[in-house]
This record gives sequence, C-alpha cells and structure tokens, in this order.
Amino acid sequence: MNHQANHSNDQAGDGLAHKDWMRQALELAQKAADLDETPIGALIVKDGQVIGKGYNLREKEQDVTMHAEIIALRDASRQTGSWRLEGCTLYVTLEPCIMCAGALIQARLDQLVFGAYDPKAGAAGSITDIFSIRQNHQVQVTGGVESALCSQMIRRFFIDLRKKKKAAGSRSVRRQQAIRETEAKQPGEKPIAKGKQPIAKGKQPIALPVKCLSSPICRKPACDSQKKGGAGDLQQNSGDKR
Ligand SMILES: [Zn+2]
Repeated sequence: MNHQANHSNDQAGDGLAHKDWMRQALELAQKAADLDETPIGALIVKDGQVIGKGYNLREKEQDVTMHAEIIALRDASRQTGSWRLEGCTLYVTLEPCIMCAGALIQARLDQLVFGAYDPKAGAAGSITDIFSIRQNHQVQVTGGVESALCSQMIRRFFIDLRKKKKAAGSRSVRRQQAIRETEAKQPGEKPIAKGKQPIAKGKQPIALPVKCLSSPICRKPACDSQKKGGAGDLQQNSGDKR
C-alpha cells in the first residue's frame, strides 16, 4: 500500500502549521495515557479555532466507539449544532481505523491530518485506504505529521504497560508464596478419617484395583482374592468398563 497516495504536503493550515496543531493533539493523547488508555488524541479546527477535542476512552467507558476521533466529532457537532463539519480539519496522533475513517467522511470533513501510521489497523493507507474509495465526499489526507513524537508516545505507553504487568505478576507470585507459607505455619492438621493413613508429604496415594480386569491367570498378589469368581465374572463385568 502506498502511504503517500492521496496525501497532501505538510502545509500551514488555519493560521498554525499542521505540526503545531498536532502538538496540541499530543497533549490530549497524554490525557489518555494518564488514564491508562492507549494515548491517542484528536482535535478539530475550523477557521483557526479548536471546535472539538477528544482522546481515547475505550477502556474507561468500555465502549468500542470511544476513539479520539469519534469523541472529537461529537464534541464539534455539539459546539456547532450540526453533524456536518464542512470547512473543518481533524488532527489525530494516529492513523484512523476503518470506523473513524468512515465517520470522518460521513461528517463531510474537509481535511484529515494524522501523525503516526498504524500498520495494524490504519485505514488511510496502511491496511487499506478508505479515503481513496470513490464516494460523494472526498477528504483531503495528510499523514506522518510529527510521526516520531506520536509513535514514540504510544511505544513508550506499551513498554510501561508491560513493565506494570510484569511487576503486578511478580507481586501476585509473592502473595501466593506468602499465603502458602502462612498455611504451612498453621498449628494442627486436619483430622484424619478413621481407617485412613496420613499420606507422607510429596507422595501420591496408590489406588489399589477393586476388581482384577486382567487375565484369570494373573499372578499379582492383589488379584488372588478375585480369582474365586473365575474367568466368567471378569468377562461378565468387562463389557462396559473398557
Ligand atoms: Zn478509530
């Protein structure tokens, strides 16, 4: 897939350069990171003014539509009183997914500017290019603006997340160990049922055969008591047990 297709140059837009708006989108992404959400931020600009903001809240809200772009679109629609966002540019720190790309077209957005490419889910050139499909509205797309900063933030977030999980894992192991040690120190053993012998630590109980199912000429000591019935009994009982 050609990442450069359908993309314009990184020109100054609405008074500030794309990269300046992208820095503001990165600040929103940091708010997501502070909530342990994947750090993705988005803002919508019209006539040099920010009219919509959003950052990823999928985990917190447990809502798959809570991507930064969708939240920013809703915010802008609330502010303007219209779902139509003509004359607007959306800045987002990561290449939009299929859902968000579709929503941007539906909102009649003029322009999309994104930071890092998303090789796993990006729908503006990475896994597909929704914007290149012939539709009744075309969005102008610019990718790779401040991409190093944007991807660095996401990468750092996942490195930290792995460290946190690892630390939580070793904490849990230590907790289990402490529980085992506490149990071992408890005075007194559980009462042993009559006729049963305590099993030595580390040894598994040996199950003795209740009925010999082998040949009637079996010489094992455990089988001697079973031989009274002879081969007939074994054959009678063997049907369902094998
Ligand atoms: Zn999305």
